[in-house]
Amino acid sequence: MPDTRPPRIGVMGGTFDPIHHGHLVAASEVAQSFDLDEVVFVPTGVPYQKRDVTESEHRYLMTVIATASNPQFTVSRVDIDRTGATYTIDTLRDLAKIYPGAELFFISGADAVAQILSWRDHDELWDMAHFVAVSRPGHVLSTAGLPKDNVSLLEIPALAISSTDCRDRVHRGHPVWYLVPDGVVQYIAKHHLYRSEA
Ligand code: ATP
Ligand code: MG
Repeated sequence: MPDTRPPRIGVMGGTFDPIHHGHLVAASEVAQSFDLDEVVFVPTGVPYQKRDVTESEHRYLMTVIATASNPQFTVSRVDIDRTGATYTIDTLRDLAKIYPGAELFFISGADAVAQILSWRDHDELWDMAHFVAVSRPGHVLSTAGLPKDNVSLLEIPALAISSTDCRDRVHRGHPVWYLVPDGVVQYIAKHHLYRSEA
């Protein structure tokens, strides 16, 4: 019997400045729990509601390095190649064109999901994708105020890692080994990222 099920594609949006094991565990756990065929990591372009970030090309390449060994993980340039600020509605529209007929599952941490109602065109997001909110240490996981049919909650192994902390550690000369993949540790050192004050 041919498999007629539409492809199930996870979308892991993030600044990835740098990508760390918290992002990778979140994607892997959602892929397993929601029987996804692929998870697309989408580094943001000029982030909406965020400080100045590292050049897009560095963030993109670190994301490629971190995901290269997993056959289910891919990286998309849709957000970094679009000019202007990144809005999730545009990310989802672009990916819907790239994966016609696919079911999209937007993955976000407990902190990010709490902000969805402040995102541009948030009432249109629900038709574009199912949202999966994952637990994150220090944040309460809840669908309060969000449409229950469109948002699922998933407890994942707790990794108290953030990109902000990784940047601070590099800046202070502390190690980021085992917080980010080995190739990303080496990429950060090679390109002297996060040495100066953010
Ligand atoms: P920053 O400190 O720069 O905000 P971050 O660690 O929050 O970085 P982002 O790129 O902002 O990383 O996050 C991308 C997505 O991954 C968001 O939905 C965020 O909630 C989620 N996420 C990040 N770290 C974790 C973690 N340790 N556990 C679960 N989800 C996470
Ligand atoms: Mg964040």
